[in-house]
Amino acid sequence: MPPPATSAVPGYHHASMPNPDPAPAPEPDVPPTYGADGALPIIDLPASGPQDERPGISDASPQELLSWFADRGEAAFRARQLADHVWSGRAQSFDDIHTLPAPLRAALEETYRFCTITGTERRSADGGLTDKALHTLDDGRAVESVLMRYPARGSRRERTTLCISSQAGCAVGCPFCATGELGLWRDLRTAEIIDQARFWRNELAAEGRRLSNIVFMGMGEPLLNPDAVLAACAALSDGNRFGLGQRHITVSTSGVIPGIERMTSLRRQYKLAVSLHAARPDLRDVLVPLNRKYPLEDVVAAATDYSDATGRRVTYEMVMIDRINDTPADARATAELLRGRLAHVNLIPMNPVAHTPWQPSPPERVEGFASTLRAAGLHTTVRRNRGIDIGAACGQLAAEMAGEPTPEAVQRRRDAIERRSAAALLNGGGRAEEEGNPG
Ligand code: SAH
Ligand code: SF4
Repeated sequence: MPPPATSAVPGYHHASMPNPDPAPAPEPDVPPTYGADGALPIIDLPASGPQDERPGISDASPQELLSWFADRGEAAFRARQLADHVWSGRAQSFDDIHTLPAPLRAALEETYRFCTITGTERRSADGGLTDKALHTLDDGRAVESVLMRYPARGSRRERTTLCISSQAGCAVGCPFCATGELGLWRDLRTAEIIDQARFWRNELAAEGRRLSNIVFMGMGEPLLNPDAVLAACAALSDGNRFGLGQRHITVSTSGVIPGIERMTSLRRQYKLAVSLHAARPDLRDVLVPLNRKYPLEDVVAAATDYSDATGRRVTYEMVMIDRINDTPADARATAELLRGRLAHVNLIPMNPVAHTPWQPSPPERVEGFASTLRAAGLHTTVRRNRGIDIGAACGQLAAEMAGEPTPEAVQRRRDAIERRSAAALLNGGGRAEEEGNPG
């Protein structure tokens, strides 16, 4: 996908500049935005050790395990014994698998890690309805997962949704997001993704509960780490491995078109969520800096191809920020963009977890926005902000662990955000219409 023909961001679009080098440097995956001002990352959590080169056992396919045992002259049933313990949660280490002879357990330990998460700190919130976990990885990097319990209501059964991370940090740098202000530390490996789900399955089993859904709404942009994320989705939805239905797995993306196209070509039933946040290109450039590489019209077209190919309704997420993207003009632009598509719009009042100059939209503005969308025939819901909500919460604990940024770093970041958004808001955000001339 070529970069947009014009860009409001100085220093990003270089086409007219003289270039002495006939072979231009490859375009970065994510164009620099707030980072270009020295405003990102706001703080760093350095890696404290080398990565453990042994793969996680949850990343080993059934075929790989069969050949591992065959190479050691062992029968195929050994592979099934092992897989059974890995996926059922009955063992916490290879040593717990007493049906395997001790030398085999030792050999497994040499080749694989039973779990790629080295430590987890759990915190409860919302009267026990929300549980957050900060997982430490082999090199000292930390990622979060959040478990949300939805009690049974009327005919709806109790549900438990787990929000997991796909990267440690994130390079996209959306200015309202706690993960975004950390920058990208590194991609997660497949097993590191799956092991967040294994961790919670075991915790829930101890309560006699089951996991209903998994959403990739934790730290990171899943489709900028697509190999690991799609391999994790395959394992999580494999009846012989984690065994959650494809329809119960949601991949949320800020709009990485090649990743969406890859999901379309897979023809699986995963749910796709697109973080839209604005239907006006100049405002979306500010709210989702990746928009300058993958413009929103093309993102919506790719997402529509996904729903055409799979028959699945696409969820569009809109974080509602007071007087930034919640004006009547923004609501109308969103309605026009999505009208007639197999879409669901989810409005999420911004959770003020990052160091932004912005505030969440008040409920009446969110309701007004929702009414405009509903009048255009769009299925629209408003997500109740649990205080610690899905996605919004992710990155918060890791940021806390990284430490408090200096007041200067916070100020630099706020200034950069204000500077970037000022032009977009002047260009037709509808403030004038609201303030002086409603109608
Ligand atoms: N990178 C992916 C998935 C992780 S973020 C994406 O952006 O879609 C998951 C969701 O949480 C996204 O819709 C994101 O916009 C939202 N989110 C991030 N920070 C938030 C905040 N402070 N308040 C509310 N929602 C937030
Ligand atoms: Fe990254 Fe998603 Fe946060 Fe944007 S909202 S910075 S894409 S994690």
